[in-house]
This record gives sequence, structure tokens and C-alpha cells, in this order.
Amino acid sequence: MKNLLLALFSFLTLDTIATAQVSSESNKPKIVVGIVVDQMRQEYFYKFQERYTEGGFKRLMNEGFMMTNAHYNYIPTYTGPGHASVYTGTTPATHGIIANDWYVRSLGKTIYCAGDSTVSAVGGTEGNGKISPRNMKSTTISDELRFATNKRSKSVGVAIKDRGAALPAGHLGDAYWFDSKKGEFMTSTYYYEDLPAWVKAFNEKKLADEYLSGTWETLFPIDTYVQSIEDDNDFEGPFIGKDNTAFPYDLKALMEDNGEYGLISTTPFGNTMTLEMAYAAIEGEQLGKRGETDLLAISFSSPDYIGHRFGPSSVELEDNYLRLDRDLEKFFDFLDDEYGAGEYLVFLTADHAVADIVNYMQSENVPSGNFNTRFVLTQMRGFTSQMFGEGNWIANYSNEQVFINHDLAKEKGVKVEDVQMALADFLLGFEGVKEVYTAADMRRNEYTKGKSSLLQMGYNHKASGDLLLILEPAWLSSSFRGTTHGTGYTYDTHVPVVMMGWNVKSGKSARYTTITDIAPTLAIMLGTRLPNGASGQPILEIVNQKSY
Ligand SMILES: [Zn+2]
Repeated sequence: MKNLLLALFSFLTLDTIATAQVSSESNKPKIVVGIVVDQMRQEYFYKFQERYTEGGFKRLMNEGFMMTNAHYNYIPTYTGPGHASVYTGTTPATHGIIANDWYVRSLGKTIYCAGDSTVSAVGGTEGNGKISPRNMKSTTISDELRFATNKRSKSVGVAIKDRGAALPAGHLGDAYWFDSKKGEFMTSTYYYEDLPAWVKAFNEKKLADEYLSGTWETLFPIDTYVQSIEDDNDFEGPFIGKDNTAFPYDLKALMEDNGEYGLISTTPFGNTMTLEMAYAAIEGEQLGKRGETDLLAISFSSPDYIGHRFGPSSVELEDNYLRLDRDLEKFFDFLDDEYGAGEYLVFLTADHAVADIVNYMQSENVPSGNFNTRFVLTQMRGFTSQMFGEGNWIANYSNEQVFINHDLAKEKGVKVEDVQMALADFLLGFEGVKEVYTAADMRRNEYTKGKSSLLQMGYNHKASGDLLLILEPAWLSSSFRGTTHGTGYTYDTHVPVVMMGWNVKSGKSARYTTITDIAPTLAIMLGTRLPNGASGQPILEIVNQKSY
């Protein structure tokens, strides 16, 4: 009997040990929080760090593992493709989000990356509700997390921009974006027939009214913004109804002529409001509190609007990052309280970075220029008519790509490839054009280096154009005031990639990494399948910290 008891006791003990081992192996973070800061350059971590708090961007730098040389590895570097690439772990060549808007030859018109004519608005206004992730052809890490738990895990995306919410949430998640007409968060019938009660309750708080009732002033005295050029200058784009670009901004007065509630997008309060929506989503969906790992995808759209209008050297941009830092500190503190430090996993990245304002660069003697696309289009039309016969040979010119009229070529008995070759040579004659590739080049060759390889990663055989242009560094298409992004140059590709929290020890690596490595890293850490189109590789500096 005694022996039996002893045997039973040791059996139980062993069993307990085995159970403990299993549960520690199946240990998962309570929640994964993906943060995309729209248009954030990696340099903003350092440039403004003196006035960052300890709990925001600096906490990511000090506590997280940061890949300091992480890049976008395709062209074009826009918001739609950026969000899709972060969450699918692949590039536009595979996920099919080749731009924000692109021309579809078979339809003879331009479509929107997150557009979907088969769905309609839920909340908000109808014009802003035809949104879904259907144009994205591969799965996201948010999808795979749901598949891994037979959909017990939830994935929720929130952003001011619809594409910043819908693409990260994936095909299986929920997405909420901001309606600029009513000033509230909305969704579409792709997701729900009616807004969830917690979203309605959030909208009833009318936070947008509150934020837009005040004035945007600098957080610190304006003469202390030593990282930025003079506040009032001719490089930046003023709001309608204000003849300069100087603080303060009377938001209530500017609203009517500047996109109504949409004005909040061009202020740091857009970030604060987005985070308020994130808090509401955590509470409303009980994210990370139901025994399965959930995913919350937050995209801060405001830094992009502010960056476009005022540029990366402006007081407005500096103030945006100082304020976002404080919002993030509060958010990370909240995550500590809600889940416990080390129980949640955060990653932060950007969907692209940004070029400097052309006129500002010229004022500093940096070679740069404005490429006049309308003039070049007219020239191309004249050239092709002369060379191949009368007719409109150019069906569309967008995203630095030219679509030749294939029907006309057929009608005239001209080989499309001959038109491509002739136009490629012709385009190289313009100032500002550095390289021109044809669709035939993209299909026949495999590029492994330089801008041609970046183009190829963004080249979709079915959807992309006949000619692909690379402009000289610091050249932008038709921009006068303010700036933009989209190229394969480092100012557009170099972005933050940092992970913090669950199973991540602090550290840094300057090894070249690509944005498509984030989703595979998460898949290995979470034990899910890789997203089905994933072409990136797990970041070994992070996954090798533990054995998965
Ligand atoms: Zn942008």
C-alpha cells in the first residue's frame, strides 16, 4: 500500500511536471499589438530623442529589439502596399496591392487598393464605406493567427485611413476607420451589418468635436524646436484659409474649408483619437483577455498627412512626434497594467518613409527636381502618334508607370514590345529620368540588385504597366509645396522595425532587414503558419532569443 501510494505520488508529481512543461511551451502572448506609423522615418527615433519621454519611443529603443537598417524592398513605397507588405510578409508582386490606386486595363479605369463595390457603409457615410481587403491576394499574419486557433483569436484593425485598418486586419479580421463627414469610426458590410455596440458608444463620445474645438499649438515654446527649420516658410503647404504655415492653428476656424472632420488627420490629435479607439476596441472585444492571443493592428495616419503638407524638417512634424511619443507612453503603461509587462508583444514600423521637400533641398544646393508628368504625358502622346500612327497610344500614366493602349497596337498591327522599347528610349531623354524598364524586361529577367530588383518586387505581371520609370534621387513628380514618397531610395525605404515585450530581449542590429521579415518573425514566435505568400525571413536576432 505504501509503495502504491509512493508510486501514485511520484506519478502525480511527474504528471504535474509534464503539464508544467507543456504549458510553458505553449505559452503565448496575451495580445500582439502591431503599430504602423504612417510615413515614419527611422531617423525620427534619434532626431527628436532629447525630448522623448522614457516610456514612449525611447522605451522601444531601450527595451525592445531594434533592426536599425530595415527597409522596404520594392517600389512603389505607398500606404496601401506598405500595410499589405507588413502583414502579408511579401511584396506587391505577390500580394497584388501594387499602389494606392492603379489603372486596370480590362476595366479601362482606376481602382482603389481597399475599394470594393460589392459592400456598403456601416456607420459613417456611404461614400467612405465601399471598403474591404479583397484586392489583397495573400493572407496576413492576422489571418493566420485566427486560422491557428480555429478563429478563437480575434484580429482588429483601427486607423483613420481605411486602407490602414482593412489591409492589416486581413481577410478574417474586423476593421474600423474614420469617416471625415460625420467624425466617427465606421466599417462596411464586409465585416458587419450593424456597428458593434462598443463602436456606437465610442462614437457617441464625439471625441473629434472635442479635439477640433481647440487650437494646435506647439507642446513646448516654439523657439525650442531646434531640430526643425523656421516655422513660417515657402516650402510648406498652408491650409486653405490661412496664408502662412505658422503656429498656432485655429482648428475650429480651419475645419470647414479643410475637409471638415478630416482636418483631424493633419493634426497630432488624430493619433490621440486613434489610440482612444484602440482602448475602446480592447475593452469592447475583450482583446487579450479570453485565453487566446489576439491581434490589434493600429495605424497612425496623421504623421503622413502632416508630413505631406509640412515636410520632414518642419516644426509641425517635430511637434507631431513629441506628442505621439507621449500618447505611446500612456498606451504602453496601459498595456502593462492591463496584461502585465512581458505578457504582450508590440511591434512598431512604418508603411514607408518620405522624401524631403524639393524646393527646400534646392535651397540647400542638393540636386533635386520636380518631374512634370503632365508635360511628359503630352510629349509621349505626340511621339507615339508620329512613330506608330495616329491615335491615343497611352492608356494611362500613374505611379511612375505607363500603360500602352494594347487594343490600338493590335488594331494597327504593331507589336506592344516595339512601342515599349521606343518609349523607354524616348523617356530617358527627359531630365530627371534615371532608368526606364519595360514589362518585357520585368518578365524575362530576374533582377537581384539595385532599383530594378526593387521594381521587380513591386511588379505584378497581370496588373502593372508597360513601362516603369526610376527618377533621379530627390526628384518628385509634380510637387510644388509639401512633399511625398513612393521611390526606392533610402529616404523612402528606411523605416523603423522594432519589437518589444513577450519573449523579446533588448538589443539592436544594423544588419539589412526588409519589411517583409516582420510577419514571418511573428509566425515563428506565435507558432502559426506563415502567411501564404510570405517571402520574407524571420529576424533571427529576435527569434533565436528563445527556442520556438
Ligand atoms: Zn503618404
